[in-house]
Amino acid sequence: MGLYASSVRKLILPYLLKRDHRESALKHLRFFEESQYWSRQRLQDYQWERLQALLKHAYETSPYYKKIFGDRGLTPKSFKSFDDIRQLPILTRNDLFDHGSEIISGQYKKESLEEALTGGTTGQQASIFRDQESFNIKLAIAWRHEGWMGRKPCDRMAYLWPAHIDFRHDQAWKSKFKNRYLLGDASYCVGMNDPHAFGEFYRDIMSYGPKYMKIFPSATVPFAQFILDTGKRPPRMKGIMATGEVLHERDRRLIEEVFGCPVQDMYGSRETGNTSCECSAREGLHIAMETSFVEFVSEGRWVDEGEEGEILITDLTNYGFPMIRYQINDYGIPMKQSCSCGRGLSFMSPGVGRVQDYFYTPDGVRHAGLVLGYHMSSDHDVKIGQIQIVQKGLKDYLIRITNRPEPTERVFDFIRRQMHKIVGEGINIEIVIVDEIPREKSGKTRFVICEIEAPGINK
Ligand SMILES: [Zn+2]
Repeated sequence: MGLYASSVRKLILPYLLKRDHRESALKHLRFFEESQYWSRQRLQDYQWERLQALLKHAYETSPYYKKIFGDRGLTPKSFKSFDDIRQLPILTRNDLFDHGSEIISGQYKKESLEEALTGGTTGQQASIFRDQESFNIKLAIAWRHEGWMGRKPCDRMAYLWPAHIDFRHDQAWKSKFKNRYLLGDASYCVGMNDPHAFGEFYRDIMSYGPKYMKIFPSATVPFAQFILDTGKRPPRMKGIMATGEVLHERDRRLIEEVFGCPVQDMYGSRETGNTSCECSAREGLHIAMETSFVEFVSEGRWVDEGEEGEILITDLTNYGFPMIRYQINDYGIPMKQSCSCGRGLSFMSPGVGRVQDYFYTPDGVRHAGLVLGYHMSSDHDVKIGQIQIVQKGLKDYLIRITNRPEPTERVFDFIRRQMHKIVGEGINIEIVIVDEIPREKSGKTRFVICEIEAPGINK
């Protein structure tokens, strides 16, 4: 198996990458393998160079940023140190809605950029774009992070994702074959608590024989529990990377026990790719400083080390669609110490991130709120504003959606259909249109609010 993967990596991977215009990813990986061990100061100097270059590029080529700089009397020369970035406003998802096409750099044709939607877990979607080189750089960063758990490109890895999250089952058999047997990626949608499906996944994973997994913890816990409950021999792994939601210690321990290897936490998003990840020392999440500038803010100021703040990300790689101080709707804690692994990359705290919310299906089973988030953002043609789902009773839901963009009948139909598909047919749904989703005392907005006590039949 190891020999097979290393032959594919040497002989076939360069060809596959070249065909998809991704060959520079290997060069970037070699660079990042080295730069991660630079001193903190050298990394900061490099990050500052990249930030200055991005600001200049945004000012000169993006109509949106030209205006933002102009309105404030700024030029790229106005930025003398990292602190000065606070002269620029935060980039919100509403800005992406309202100014998406003006953000695109005039040096790129829109058609040449890869389009995606913003993450679905907070229920608000907008189009974002990424240029090819940025994609390749982020691919190299993802490989570097996987390398920290021992995986090299093309080593077999199983993705344990919440139900239907990325719709990979719609892939043509050719790309399925390529992913599974050449790139070493096999996906399993395990988030539905279905013993029959779990049995099939189990058999397939045992025959596929991956040594690594990338997982959503909430989707993986029921599968791990199924393996324990049925007394099956667990597939043994060498490394597991958890992402997409908060990794609770309790879940981490269960998953480690079942699959027999450490679980490393990774923080990333669709908008800006991998931002930070634990190395094998697991003392905190190393920020990918070469590609991301991360701020932690509270009431307009940068928080001190050890204090929680809202995360703003400047993507230092995406020249097609500059994203500066992007408000990702997550929270985290900047940390001061350095890691015993010797890497110079700065640190943020694990275990903080998206507020974790749950809902109950009529059978009393508890599910992670993000499952609804992904289903609400599953159709690229249905543009929904910000959305909040409130469970009022075991079968009663109140759904708030914002009036920007103005929701159409199609949006209402889509929301009802998705709710019935995921939660169940016999539920009551009331949809109301609002100017804004109400905020919690903390200032956060929540995507799913469950107002009912755990039903007695809760598992
Ligand atoms: Zn480390």
